[in-house]
Amino acid sequence: MKKLNELTIHEAVEGLKKGEFTSVQITEACLNQINNVDKKIKALITLNSKNALEEAKRADEEIAGTGAVIFENKPLLGIPYLCKDNFSVKGLVTTAGSNVLKNYVPPFDSTVTGRLKKAGAILLGKTNMDAFAHGSTTETSDFYPTKNPWDIHRVPGGSSGGSAAAVASNMCLFSIGSETGGSIRGPASWCGVTGLKPSYGRVSRYGVVAMASSTDSPGPITKDVKDAAYVLNIIAGKDHRDATSSPAEVEDYTPSNNFSLKGFKIGKPISYFNIDLEPEVKQKVEDAVKILEEMGAEIIEMDLLDPKYSIAVYTILQRSEVSSNLARLDGIRYGNDRKSFGFEAKKRIMLGTYTLSAGYYDAYYSKAQKVRTLIKNDFEEAFKKIDLIVAPSMPCIAPELGQSEKSSMYGELMDLLSEPSSVAGLPGISIPCGFSQGMPVGLQFIGNIFGEKDIIEVSNLFQEGTDFHKDFPSL
Ligand code: GLN
Repeated sequence: MKKLNELTIHEAVEGLKKGEFTSVQITEACLNQINNVDKKIKALITLNSKNALEEAKRADEEIAGTGAVIFENKPLLGIPYLCKDNFSVKGLVTTAGSNVLKNYVPPFDSTVTGRLKKAGAILLGKTNMDAFAHGSTTETSDFYPTKNPWDIHRVPGGSSGGSAAAVASNMCLFSIGSETGGSIRGPASWCGVTGLKPSYGRVSRYGVVAMASSTDSPGPITKDVKDAAYVLNIIAGKDHRDATSSPAEVEDYTPSNNFSLKGFKIGKPISYFNIDLEPEVKQKVEDAVKILEEMGAEIIEMDLLDPKYSIAVYTILQRSEVSSNLARLDGIRYGNDRKSFGFEAKKRIMLGTYTLSAGYYDAYYSKAQKVRTLIKNDFEEAFKKIDLIVAPSMPCIAPELGQSEKSSMYGELMDLLSEPSSVAGLPGISIPCGFSQGMPVGLQFIGNIFGEKDIIEVSNLFQEGTDFHKDFPSL
């Protein structure tokens, strides 16, 4: 029998509808788990327990008063979650993992947390992250690194590392992360959970502390694909407060019962399998590709630009946008003064200021934008021939703490396999596909622009036929 904090969203909603347990009981189970294991994992920055319990009580009253029908309007009623600390939440300190915003209390809600609140979800607290989302391990958090729940001597990935570690250690039923170039898929892969990075513009960025505005994409981190679809149904869609949110129609992302892979073409980019992959990671992903083939998919080996080009493009564009976005943190309008920036943020601001300055703009920024278009075109051509791309999520298993200090480009090198689709604005997912040295390995699907439904259908089918996503670390 699962404990209540171990439930998926869809299991918990069913139980709440039938009156098998209450939201207060689920919320207490999550808070107990946080209390018991977060001393070790350090996934949280802020705990919101008092408010969460009050909201859970109110949710139970609503369910008792109206019955299961209330879930039609409030699909997440009474479901506890955690949110990365770069999403503004009214009245709750929002730090983005940085000393600059250490005491910042937003007077408004981000669209994502606002929509989740409206759907009845209960916010348990805010999770640790690399400061301003600069990094792939949580080690650039100005507070402390988060530990990987599968081995506390290893990193959980980043920048949404707290959110992924919290789901893997059953501190919540789901969490919210954000990705600019790997920050949802990476930690999901290293923590053995499901992480969905939607297409750029599918989910509003309003109220998210800006990192690189042309790629930032909020998304869910969950225990399975069904839950990812459940959350995406709530947070996706046009938002008049974010001009870059897309007016494209929001589909019902719920996986269908009769999806078949017959005639479905999955591209396997040679360039993504020929990089320096850890042999066992490569093997697990190859095994997963075989499973897809047995399920009926047509696997097509294909050419796609070498992902190394995206590192250069991402590095220049990301720094340029960071230098502009972080200029607003001047100590007058928000937070502490600029001396409080950590080393990583300072480095990125300096490089970005350089790539945008007169004389260097054409050599770096505008050239990077041109190559970005080439990367986008390359994917566009590929999707004329295939329906979905399969690849490893990360080149290796979660490294030990401290490794990232040895290389200033660590984040970019680790996120090599998610950066091309990020700069192209495409959706992607990481789902567990096995273990290497006791650590989870992630399988990645990349979809065409606004092709979230294809990603969800295929990865849900994979999870229906396998058990990799059902393993959780014992803590
Ligand atoms: N490795 C990337 C970086 O350090 C990850 C950033 C992200 O997606 N937030 O910039």
